[in-house]
Amino acid sequence: MPDPRPHPEDLRPATVTVSAGRPPREPDAPLNPPITMASTYVATGDVEYGRYGNPTWSAFEDVLGQLEGGRALAFSSGMAAVGTVLDLLGPAAGVVAPRHAYSGTVMALGDLESRGRGRGTLVDIADTEAVIAAMRADEDCALLWIESPTNPALELADIAALAEAAHALGVRVVVDNTFATPLLQQPLALGADIVVHSATKYLAGHSDVQLGALVVADDEVYDAVKGRRDLVGAVPGPFETWLALRGMRTLAVRLDRAQANAAELARRLEDHPAVEEVRYPGLGGIVAMVLRSGDAADVAVRQTRLWVHATSLGGVESTLERRRRWKAEAETIPDGLVRLSVGIEDVEDLWADLSQALEKG
Ligand SMILES: *Cc1c(COP(=O)(O)O)cnc(C)c1O
Repeated sequence: MPDPRPHPEDLRPATVTVSAGRPPREPDAPLNPPITMASTYVATGDVEYGRYGNPTWSAFEDVLGQLEGGRALAFSSGMAAVGTVLDLLGPAAGVVAPRHAYSGTVMALGDLESRGRGRGTLVDIADTEAVIAAMRADEDCALLWIESPTNPALELADIAALAEAAHALGVRVVVDNTFATPLLQQPLALGADIVVHSATKYLAGHSDVQLGALVVADDEVYDAVKGRRDLVGAVPGPFETWLALRGMRTLAVRLDRAQANAAELARRLEDHPAVEEVRYPGLGGIVAMVLRSGDAADVAVRQTRLWVHATSLGGVESTLERRRRWKAEAETIPDGLVRLSVGIEDVEDLWADLSQALEKG
């Protein structure tokens, strides 16, 4: 029987999140892919061993790959995916990266440098000319790392312009698309070579899974990345991958609601006397608010009853955190900056709780 399903290219992204990565439609087939617990497979097939592949990974990778317009590979965490990209670099490679990238990424670059394995140049990723100048200034520059919006400063990069300039200089382009998700931004279509995800955040979406992914367009890069994953073994558990896939089924509705809530809260925070600055790039569910001081921010985050004081982001529940409480956070991030990960609760309850906490900050 021919597979009756529509061709994925004919479907819009919100439909792909629901319909891709499912078993063939046959009588009595389950609608969802099973969780395949297997460390080995009957020889001689395509997978062979548990570190090389897993049908549950494949289902997750199908969905993410279709959404990003490339081929995806799942990893045990976002940092495993980040580390794998950095592992592809030659011994003295230069990397240009945002000074306000995810702090783990900046730490990984510093670690690379301290082991004499590369050199990072940190830039303001929103300043396109400065980023291009930094790539030109380093003749060994091999990689441009982009995060847009940045975490937690929420700056935006001109991905298309930067990718074009990077390629003219023979520099490979990586975009960490964790904040925007493929529903709001598809970096491969804008010229990027590799997309990085912490699926821990919006893709899984329920604060119960650690998972990462890379998505690439080029087959040679795919083979290189898959080769590293096979060799280093930073592979995810089948159950975690299944949970992330289950989370992705509702990504579009979660993101719609989180965005609507975030936009409304950003608007109200603008008028709040305790808030000195609001940063909201107009997309996604993350808002940053700057309070008068680090102390004021510390008081405010402890006063919320609905919002949870916690790190991480992208879950259904609203969380908030003063980012400079982490030693690794860049010193150019204001002391009083509180990152809000806006969830899918009723916006009036979120506002009532946040505004009462701000009164005490
Ligand atoms: C959380 C995060 C990471 C790291 O992902 P883990 O799943 O925590 O390893 C990388 N990039 C961004 C933008 C993140 O927010």
